[in-house]
Amino acid sequence: MSDFSHKFEHLATNLVHAGAPQPRIDGAVITPIFQSANYLMQDESTYDAVRYIRLHNSPNHHTLHARLAAIESGESALVTASGMAAISAAILAFVGQGEHLLTQPTLYGGTQNFLDEDAPRFGIEHSPIDLTDPEGPTAWERALRPETRMLYVEAISNPLMEVFDLEAVVAFGRKHDLITLIDSTFTSPVNFRALEIGFDLVVHSATKYLNGHSDLVAGAVIGSKTMVEKVRNIQLHLGAALDPHTCFLLERGLKTLELRVERQNDNAMALAQFLDAHPRVRKVCYPGLADDPGFGHASRLFSGFGGMLSFYAQSPEIAASFLGRVRIPLHAASLGAVESLVVRPARSSHLGMSPQDRERLRITDDLVRVSVGIENIDELRTDFDQALG
Ligand code: PLP
Repeated sequence: MSDFSHKFEHLATNLVHAGAPQPRIDGAVITPIFQSANYLMQDESTYDAVRYIRLHNSPNHHTLHARLAAIESGESALVTASGMAAISAAILAFVGQGEHLLTQPTLYGGTQNFLDEDAPRFGIEHSPIDLTDPEGPTAWERALRPETRMLYVEAISNPLMEVFDLEAVVAFGRKHDLITLIDSTFTSPVNFRALEIGFDLVVHSATKYLNGHSDLVAGAVIGSKTMVEKVRNIQLHLGAALDPHTCFLLERGLKTLELRVERQNDNAMALAQFLDAHPRVRKVCYPGLADDPGFGHASRLFSGFGGMLSFYAQSPEIAASFLGRVRIPLHAASLGAVESLVVRPARSSHLGMSPQDRERLRITDDLVRVSVGIENIDELRTDFDQALG
């Protein structure tokens, strides 16, 4: 069998080469798609010798695991059939019956629904903590219980793009012996590598930036070898393995991650500044703007401010007509792809919430979320201007 452990020093090189089979399989420059469910037995002494797609051990999986570990500065990685498969397995691997976790108050909707609706049926409870409480970790301590096992946060919150003091989150987790788990989907490892500041585990919806082309659904978990192994063991039973063809597409998408994200960082910053000065825009949420509440943390922790921003139009009518008039971005959910996407969170991801809860969370009808793509920035700005009227 080929060796998949190859890695280099720099992110850009690892994105292209880490984990590529050595020697190359039959001389193929690219890892071929191994569309085989099972493999010949080479050994009968260990279960690890069984090779089968659900066990995540085809050559396509091995390459991706090594590449993802290298780019997130982790020891080990696991790819899964979706971001939600990665998130649910990572939580279930470390929080069990009668145990509890702390979370930031607004999580990605799927994660929130899993914690609200499914986790309680397994005896798992959770409490939100206000990561912006001026009292800081002293206030968070009040939510701790003897059975608290985990602290779960997102690198940038959705849809208001808040960035919290993630170093304080890590310190709090260490002090109270909690596993710290972060969803880094919005930053991607180009802008932030959470394991380097002490998080225990990172999860991604690889559907978004890691792949970047709106053509697959996948997830990833990265961390120490022992922790990823625990997630893998649960995932073997849940059965949400990524198929080899999608592994191949994800590997291809990853190669251009740094190029795409650097362009998206630049485009989003330019667009945020343009919108900030626009008379039809009331407020822009982007951690790269100097007066944004997350600017200090983002400048310290991140090497780029990312491609996600949101803005409040001067009225819900302006927001609605903007979506109808914009020509380059597509009016669609999801994010992180090469094409710009626009959506009203109150009319999509958060539609299931009561209007009162949306109001409390400031997710109102005048709010537009933008996933900035790699298009020409002058053309994007002109299009936003005409669409705002
Ligand atoms: N995490 C975040 C921050 C997301 O935005 C999403 C999807 O939108 C997910 C996780 C879930 O990912 P997937 O749709 O790949 O299951």
